[in-house]
Amino acid sequence: MPEILEIEYYRRLAEAGLDREIESVAVDEIAARGLEPGVDLSAILPGLSFVAARRRGKLLLLDTEGPTFGMRFGMTGGLLLDGLAGIDRLEYGPGTYESKWIRARIRFADGGELLLHDPRRLGRVSLDPDEGALGPDGFEITPTQLRSALSSRAPGGGPALKARLMDQSKVAGVGNLLADEMFWRAGLDPQRPSSSLSDKELRRLHRHLRSTLDDLFERGGSHTGDLMEARRPGGRCPKDGAALHRATVGGRTTWWCPEHQV
Ligand SMILES: [Zn+2]
Repeated sequence: MPEILEIEYYRRLAEAGLDREIESVAVDEIAARGLEPGVDLSAILPGLSFVAARRRGKLLLLDTEGPTFGMRFGMTGGLLLDGLAGIDRLEYGPGTYESKWIRARIRFADGGELLLHDPRRLGRVSLDPDEGALGPDGFEITPTQLRSALSSRAPGGGPALKARLMDQSKVAGVGNLLADEMFWRAGLDPQRPSSSLSDKELRRLHRHLRSTLDDLFERGGSHTGDLMEARRPGGRCPKDGAALHRATVGGRTTWWCPEHQV
């Protein structure tokens, strides 16, 4: 599933689509579910150009001289520009690109095009999406913002740490694989109540959140973590050899080491 790193690759690719006049827009009815009823992009975007490619968490934002065009990529969404893909392959996608899976097509007057490719049809396009509904971006979050994102007055200390870190309204961009990797690196049990971290643990998590994103971005994506190969039945912790535990946390399959993640 594309996480913040993949969307950052897409954003960089989309920069090559700036300052080119949009000639036509076609969106299939499922990808168009991200639009307000009655909004017809083919009547709004042609004649405009994208002037900036931004990202907040997993939301790609393409500003025009007028409204902002938003793209979400769901479980298997990819971005293609002028026939180039933002990433080589999608870990949970089919690994190939096919024309029948193109859900949105923006054609430029110069003949090039920007495409949303999505076999599982969970990607959506939007116009002027509500960026304020998302928490601070994972690449930019400060320790103070992370503290506030994890805080909870709920009895018991709030939801599981991992569930809270993946709540996009609290921290934007962290998905399942990245969350497991950063908790493993930080030596924290993902099931702990979100507000139970000491100041020292919070700073450690913040440091590993940022370094995990930087490292895996350099390596090539969310699936390149040190824990990745061990995420399977019988998998052992690459640090200490302990048998990994598996459970559903925050609705997602979670792997962690009972030995050093406390
Ligand atoms: Zn371990």
